[in-house]
Amino acid sequence: MVYTPGRAGDYGAEDYAQDLAIIAQRPSETLSLYVHIPFCAGRCLYCGCNTTVTHDSARMDAYLDALDREMAMVAERIDGNRDVLQVHLAGGTPNYLSEAQLTRLTEMLERRFHIVAETERSIECDPRRSSAGQLELLHALGFRSIGFGVQDLDPDVQRAIGRVQSEELIRDVYWMAREIGFDSIGFDLIYGLPQQTAATFDRTVDTVLELAPDRVACFGYARQTLSGPHQHAIDVHELPGNAEREQLFRNAVSAFGQAGYAWIGLDTFTLETDDLALAQGEGRLHRNCIGYTATPSAHIAGLGAGAVGELRGTCVQNQLNLDDWRHDVDARRMPVARGRRLSALDRRRRDAISHLICNLELPQKMADGCLDDEYRRLAAHAGDGLVEAWPQGLRVTEAGRFFLRELCTEHDADFHWDRARWHFSHSD
Ligand code: SF4
Repeated sequence: MVYTPGRAGDYGAEDYAQDLAIIAQRPSETLSLYVHIPFCAGRCLYCGCNTTVTHDSARMDAYLDALDREMAMVAERIDGNRDVLQVHLAGGTPNYLSEAQLTRLTEMLERRFHIVAETERSIECDPRRSSAGQLELLHALGFRSIGFGVQDLDPDVQRAIGRVQSEELIRDVYWMAREIGFDSIGFDLIYGLPQQTAATFDRTVDTVLELAPDRVACFGYARQTLSGPHQHAIDVHELPGNAEREQLFRNAVSAFGQAGYAWIGLDTFTLETDDLALAQGEGRLHRNCIGYTATPSAHIAGLGAGAVGELRGTCVQNQLNLDDWRHDVDARRMPVARGRRLSALDRRRRDAISHLICNLELPQKMADGCLDDEYRRLAAHAGDGLVEAWPQGLRVTEAGRFFLRELCTEHDADFHWDRARWHFSHSD
């Protein structure tokens, strides 16, 4: 779930260039980078990501050529001399790039932007594309946080979603990453997949818990209205019903809780000592287009086809189509597909919802004067036990945690909190 407006405005390439120039005048404001690598070796049937199946390494080289040109355009406008807070590589499958390409990509980023020892570098990886050599290289390149797309370990579910990866492979890759010394290893799971039952998903969760990754995201699969042809290959009759789906998630919450994991926001679980858990406990957790964070960035520049960014209160997305994106970059035009500058009221809504999702509370002062009706509607959920009064405002109850998305919609005027709407980001 990313805080992006559902309606795209008339924000375009010139607006984006101007915003970058304004940010250049504010060197104390922090910057992070989101880099999208839109290539995969095959298409998983549940996938809603912006990606292309290819086996042509030269195509990826050409993409990096254009990406370097886009980086140069952004860096020269934004003042690439400020320290970068976070670099996040997502896709697609970032680790589908060869070792030489991963090295080149890192060198490009370091040449164009001011990436320092403290810059947090994270990457989403497909375990089927991981090897000891590649993981060692990523660690040597400064990546300390790595996420693997696991989804489900049951062979029947894996066949039904077109993504077969053995439990043995997941264990091997996990232990390789541990031995190499990554600070944070994350797994993505998906519930609501075809052939899944409470018994099969419980087994997946138990196996994951044996490994004890630092973070686990447990997303719900939902067929999108505008789903691609590959998603139609999923037999809807094999999908769990609503009640079973809910049970899968409730069981996962219970298992992670018993294992001592903290439940973060909507769908993430971390060890109690994790930064995110500490930040949530102290009411300072944030969420942006990279994910949950304890160290929010004032601006996030998206780089690559389909990349999402957040600049000066504007949500912006690059051209999704590779040719369109490259065409803009070659013409030295910012490759913006859409964006919308948030009004002051939009920003108040975004901040209220973000605070509610991340910190499970809404101080009344965040609503005062402009979101009073929304606040009253939220307060009415005290009647069904989903929220309760707390000295500064309202707090989500344990029962309300399972309805957090619905509670947020009380503040949702023309935003859409469907994470699938603009992009569907998860570890590959
Ligand atoms: S789920 Fe990940 S690996 Fe599978 S097609 Fe989508 S982006 Fe590629």
